[in-house]
Amino acid sequence: MKNTIISLKDITVSYDGEQVLAGFNLDIHDGEFVTLLGPSGCGKTTALRTIAGFIRPDKGDVFFYEKNITDLPPHKREVNTIFQKYALFPHLNVYENIAFGMRLKGRGEKEIKQTVHEMLAKVNLTGYAHRGISQLSGGQQQRVAIARALANEPKVLLLDEPLGALDLKLRKDMQVELKKLQQQTGITFVFVTHDQEEALSMSDTVVVMDGGVIQQIGTPTDIYNEPENAFVADFIGESNILDGLMLEDYSVKFAGHIFRCLDSGFGRNAAVDVVIRPEDIKVVEPESTLITGEVTAVTFKGVHYEIIVDVAGFKWMIQSTECRQPGDRIGLSLTPNDIHVMHKSEYSGKFGDYSTFSDEMGEDIMASDEAATQEADDSDEANAPRETEEERKAGASGKAGAEREGRADEV
Ligand code: ADP
Ligand code: MG
Repeated sequence: MKNTIISLKDITVSYDGEQVLAGFNLDIHDGEFVTLLGPSGCGKTTALRTIAGFIRPDKGDVFFYEKNITDLPPHKREVNTIFQKYALFPHLNVYENIAFGMRLKGRGEKEIKQTVHEMLAKVNLTGYAHRGISQLSGGQQQRVAIARALANEPKVLLLDEPLGALDLKLRKDMQVELKKLQQQTGITFVFVTHDQEEALSMSDTVVVMDGGVIQQIGTPTDIYNEPENAFVADFIGESNILDGLMLEDYSVKFAGHIFRCLDSGFGRNAAVDVVIRPEDIKVVEPESTLITGEVTAVTFKGVHYEIIVDVAGFKWMIQSTECRQPGDRIGLSLTPNDIHVMHKSEYSGKFGDYSTFSDEMGEDIMASDEAATQEADDSDEANAPRETEEERKAGASGKAGAEREGRADEV
């Protein structure tokens, strides 16, 4: 494993007596693409701001390589942040936005010019140097923010939902581009998103969070195939989560039957959660298998059909390329490899039965409406949150940021 560049040790952060991060431990390695993933409000931005130095934790320490930087102000840390709203200077053109940090550091005009053009080429904006920020699309503004951050040559780049404001197609393109940039530059990226697909497709390491607590740290494959609890299983991808009993190593009982599995180390007769991914379940004739049920709903999804099956009152979701009709009796076939056993947790029983599907969808829609409203508030300059100016300077100047606070507006 490569060197640890950033280490968060037992970090606790509270706002108004409310704990937002609790016992947060995370090692980030040199050149790694790490993603903090979790629902809105789980503490992702707080974790990022703690790394950047905008938040002083109540408890715990932040290390850069082996040096304790807990008390080091943001502008002295070798990190640069790209904020959700880009935080570009609207009164400066593209060139001056990118040059800003280098000017603060007193770099010569020739070097600045060369770096600005290099960075513009890197983010595919050659020829845009003299455009005003307001003449750019959202995607182009995002690229300027990236170019501006890279021009400061940070050791670590912190990106807070940087693609959140882009439409789906552009978002996908930018995911690929960002990943490429990260690989080319070798800079450590700490990326924040609530989008699990984005996290899985871009990251070397995913940190799944909920309620200010890390639920799991792993590669995208680990997180998907070996979720540690029901929260992770539910948040990443689709899953059927059932109550189970681990009878002994490699033998688990659920849905009224005993199955062979690949899991061990849970002890005898231990209550567990069992997760089965919809795409792993094979649809077979009901006579040939243990689990049978009646199809209650079928939705065509393009690549597959999503089939909801009522098995003794518990609704399973199956993804299959074979079509079935509501009312059909079908069998569900599983191999040991399809069964994944997890320890019980505070999340047990909260997810899993697709009869709650429509409720969950309802909540999702309400939550995303709220998020959209929040977003609209955020983008309203009049309501700009308190840190906007701070963010602009920090985003523009990296290390030299807050040091020259008074100068930012004069430039
Ligand atoms: P995320 O980025 O995952 O959406 P945040 O880190 O922004 O989450 O927030 C975590 C929690 O802390 C939320 O409940 C949020 O309301 C609260 N919070 C964030 N910033 C502040 C603040 N400055 N004052 C009080 N509460 C805050
Ligand atoms: Mg956030």
